[in-house]
Amino acid sequence: MIFSLTLNWPPVIEFGPGKFSVIPDHLAECRKVFILADMPFLNRAEELSETLNAKGIRSLISTDVVPEPPFEALERLPAQVKAFGPDAVIGIGGGSAMDLAKLVSVLFTGEQRPVDIIGTNQVNRRDVRLITVATTSGTGSEVTPIAVLTDTREKLKKGVVSRYLIPDVAIVDPELTVSMPPSITASTGMDAMTHCIEAYTNRYAHPIIDNIALEGIRWIGTHLERAVKNGNDLEARTAMSLGSLYGGMCLGPVNTAGVHALAYPLGGEFKISHGVSNSVLLPFVMVHNLPECVEKYAKIAEVIGVPGGSSPETAAKKAIRKIRDISNSCNIPPDLKSLNIPESAISAMAEAAMNVTRLLDNNPRVITLEDAERIYSNAWNGILE
Ligand code: NAD
Repeated sequence: MIFSLTLNWPPVIEFGPGKFSVIPDHLAECRKVFILADMPFLNRAEELSETLNAKGIRSLISTDVVPEPPFEALERLPAQVKAFGPDAVIGIGGGSAMDLAKLVSVLFTGEQRPVDIIGTNQVNRRDVRLITVATTSGTGSEVTPIAVLTDTREKLKKGVVSRYLIPDVAIVDPELTVSMPPSITASTGMDAMTHCIEAYTNRYAHPIIDNIALEGIRWIGTHLERAVKNGNDLEARTAMSLGSLYGGMCLGPVNTAGVHALAYPLGGEFKISHGVSNSVLLPFVMVHNLPECVEKYAKIAEVIGVPGGSSPETAAKKAIRKIRDISNSCNIPPDLKSLNIPESAISAMAEAAMNVTRLLDNNPRVITLEDAERIYSNAWNGILE
C-alpha cells in the first residue's frame, strides 16, 4: 500500500565543505540576527557576526546551549531574545543547539510557553527567518520540523512537531564536523543510522522516503567507522554529513519508531545521550521487528556490503549483526548493563516507553508492554536472539 505523504523540507539546503561562508547571503534582507552557538563554535559565531556587522547587520550571540535541553533551558533565553528583537535566528551546533534555536524562534515573542507547544501542530506561528547549521552528523535537525526537550520532572523526552520549526535555510558543512571527538562521531552517526533504518522499515514507509533512507544507510554504513578512526578524513566526514542529512529528510515525512520510543526513558531517566541510547537499542528492536522486515533487512545487508545470505532470512539476520558490529567497533557500549542501568529499572522504563505512542504507532511490528520489557531485558544482557 502506498500511503499519502507530505514532503516538508527547508526550501534551501546548502550542502558541502565550506558552506558556512554562504550564511550572510541568506540574510540580505535582515537587520538583527540572534545567533545561538554551541560553545565549541563561539569563534565561528564571532567571525560570522563581524562579517554581518560589515554589512550593517547587527547580531547578538549566546552560547546558552545545554545538551539534550531540558525545559529549564528556555526559562531566560526567550526574554533576552525578545529584548534584542531579531528578524532572524541562527542555531549553530548539534541537535541540542539547533533544537533550542528552533524553539526560541517560535517562543521569543512570549505568545506561547514551551509547555503550550509540546506535541504535533501546536505552534501558532513564526515571524523570523530561521537558519540551522549542523556541527554533528547525527540528528538531521537542520531539516526537520521537530525539536526535542527533556522533561526532568517526568524523566521523559518530549517532542514539538510543527511546520513552523522547518528552517528557511539548512547549512550542512562537513568541515564543521571535523572537530567532533570519536565518541560523539560514533554516537551521533549511529543516531543518523537509526533514523534511516526506522524510516525505511516504518509502518508508514513510503517509496520516496525508502530511496532516501536506503542511501543514508549506505553512506553511513560504509563511512562511520572511517570517520571515527580518523576525524580529519574529510571524505568520510562528507559521507557522514550526507547520510545524516538523508536521515533528517526522512524524519518529517515518515519519522522514527520503536527504537526512539524505547530510547526516550534512557535519556530522560538515566541521562544517556540520544545517540548512545538509540545505538544500543537498535539491534534489539530490529530483532523484534524481524518477522515484518525480512526483505527490507536483506536489502540493508546488500547496501552496507554484507555478503549475501542463502535466503532473505539469513541476509536479514546478517544485517542486524553487522549493524551491531559497526556500533561495537565504534566503541559504543554493547548493552544496557555496560551503561550502568540497573536491571530493576526495566519494568519502569517499559511503562514509560509505552507513553511514546506517537512513535510506537510507526513501528512495523506492535510493541506491547511485555515486548518492551523483553527488548530491554535482551538489551541489558546483550543477548541478540
Ligand atoms: P548535541 O547537540 O547534544 O552535542 C553533543 C556534544 O557534542 C555537545 O557537548 C556539543 O557541544 C558537542 N559538539 C557538537 N558539535 C561538535 C563539533 N563539531 N566538535 C566538537 N564538539 C561538538 O548532540 P546531538 O546528538 O547532535 O543532538 C542531540 C539532541 O538532538 C537530543 O536532545 C535529541 O533528542 C535531539 N534530536 C533532535 C532531532 C530533531 O529532529 N530535532 C532528531 C533527533 C534528535
